Formats: sequence, C-alpha cells, structure tokens
Amino acid sequence: MLTPADKKDAPIYQLKVTLTGSRPPIWRRIQISGETHLHKLHRILQIVMGWEDYHLHQFVVGERYYGTSQPDFDLEMEVKDERTVTLGGVAPAVGQKFTYEYDFGDSWEHEILVEKILKPAPGVRYPVCIKGKRACPPEDCGGIWGYESFLEAIRDPNQPEHEEMLEWIGESFDPEAFDLEAVNRELAALRSDGDEGEEERDRPRFGRLPPRYAFALNPYEDVRFSKCPQCYEPTRLRKFALLIYIERFGLLSQGKTCRCCPGCELLIVHQDELEAQLATGLWERAPEVIGNDYFVVGTVERKIWRRGLRQPQALSFEELRRHTADFKTILEIEYEPGGWYPSGRSNES
Ligand SMILES: [Zn+2]
Repeated sequence: MLTPADKKDAPIYQLKVTLTGSRPPIWRRIQISGETHLHKLHRILQIVMGWEDYHLHQFVVGERYYGTSQPDFDLEMEVKDERTVTLGGVAPAVGQKFTYEYDFGDSWEHEILVEKILKPAPGVRYPVCIKGKRACPPEDCGGIWGYESFLEAIRDPNQPEHEEMLEWIGESFDPEAFDLEAVNRELAALRSDGDEGEEERDRPRFGRLPPRYAFALNPYEDVRFSKCPQCYEPTRLRKFALLIYIERFGLLSQGKTCRCCPGCELLIVHQDELEAQLATGLWERAPEVIGNDYFVVGTVERKIWRRGLRQPQALSFEELRRHTADFKTILEIEYEPGGWYPSGRSNES
C-alpha cells in the first residue's frame, strides 16, 4: 500500500559520456536510473571517467546551469542546485544531450547523450558501466590540449619534456587502458553506501528544523483515507502549510488540509486538490509554470507562514529555511485490493 517513491521501477537511462575534443574518443556507456539526481550523477561520472573529484563541476543543460556552488533554492542565482533535479527531469527523451563540465581551470567538458530509455532488467543493479574506451587524462594536465602535449611528451624520448612528464605522472601511463571491472567495483561500493540512509541524505534538504512526517500524495480522487493505510487508526483532518518546490518557478508555501495519522506521523494529501489550489494561486503570477513538475518539500511553521503571507517580501529564504521541516520520507500510494478505506465524505478543502 505505501512504498517509498524511490523503490518503484524507474526507467533506466543509457547514457554515452564522451570527453569533448578527445581524439581518439575517450568515452563510457552507462545505465542509470532516470530518477538519479544530478549531484549523484556527478559522483557516478567521476567514477566511470576516472577523475578524482577535487575540482569544481557543473552541468549545463541548454541555457541552464546546475551545480553546488550556490545557496540552495536561491532563485536569484544563475546556478541551480543540482540536488533538486533528476536526470529524467533535465533530459527526458532519447537523443537529448547536455554537458558535464569538470575543473573550470582545465575545463574538461563531457557530452552526455541519452542513447536509450529502458525498463530495468531483472537482477541488474544500477548504476552500471557497460562499456568504455581509453584512459582518463591525468588531473591537472592542462585540459584537452595539455593532454595531447603530455601524450606526445611521454611517447617520444626526444621531446624536451619527456623526462619531466614521466616524473610528473610517477608511473607508466597507458592512454588506451580502461578497466571496466574496476569501474563497476567502485559503482557497487557507491551503491552499497547508497542504501536507504544514503537516499535519505541525498534528498534535497531545505529546512533547518529536524525532518518531520512521512508524506504521501493520494492520486485517487474518490478515495478518502479516513483510516490510516499503515496502522488502520482513524485519521484526522488538519491544516498544514506545505512548502512546495515547482520546477522553473521555485518555492511556494501553500496552506492545505491534510489527512493526518498522529501515531504514524503520516500526512496524506489529495493530489488533485493540491494541484487545483496551486494552479489557482499561480494563475496570475506565473501561469506558464502550471503543469510543471513539483515536489512537496515539507511543512512550514504556521506562524511564520502567516507572517510570510501578510508580508511576502519580509520572509527571506534563510528565514523560511529556519522554520521549515523537510519530510522524513516521501511515500507512494499504490493500489492494493482490500487496502482502501473510502469514507464517502468529501469535507476536505
Ligand atoms: Zn497510522
């Protein structure tokens, strides 16, 4: 009946990652859940390419930038928080491309192409690297041009920098080497520390208050959870100020009557009602974002929310954060025969 949203069978994206300008090409082919957030994709790209992750990075999707360097959720900033968007959100279709840039000094650009969108294969654990060619250039070798000079120098004993470069790299360097198994061992290690706890930590955390409540959107218009789907105790109706992040718009707080199970600390909200309220609220301010993906972040303390309503400008992001508690878990309501408790009442507003 209730399962964590990240447990469902998300589509698998097959990506080809190519180091821009590399000739012959340095590339990897990976398969990864479309629900992977970009900050996690960054960690995966570091592993599959062979980088050491000690420089800055960013994603460039069309004219949008996603990275870590700016405060979370700050709408004025040009660089959006990479934890707030998923792979499927930025590149939803086969054939789409975007860029991953690593090390703004050497400026390693990687073209990421969505080659296929697949159903998860039984027994396969994702992310997985299925193929790749050639070694990752050494960090700090000066970008793609520097790498070419480096290769020339180590290949040719007559080059003036031959000895110096061999000493710098400190070992033999084979530009054709790529160890698929080693890469997949590292991905497996990332997965094993990417258990539930990790997923929890990986969720974008906005609020400074300790996380509270499990949250579920009820997608069924005619089903009222008058009893809790977890403990079967009667639920109560209670109004909360929900903080909602809407893609290409930003944060919005919205008062909403929720079904609440105090014992389970569970809130259930009718999806259709919430969406209708959001659409009404946005109709004059930003009609173009109606229908965009959104994400219910957590609850805002009512007193601060009311103050924000009276004087929206008075409420800074930092203030909003201090009075917001993220949800502990986002649950998904799934059909299970016999598991419904339609009350027939519709006194929720
Ligand atoms: Zn309950």
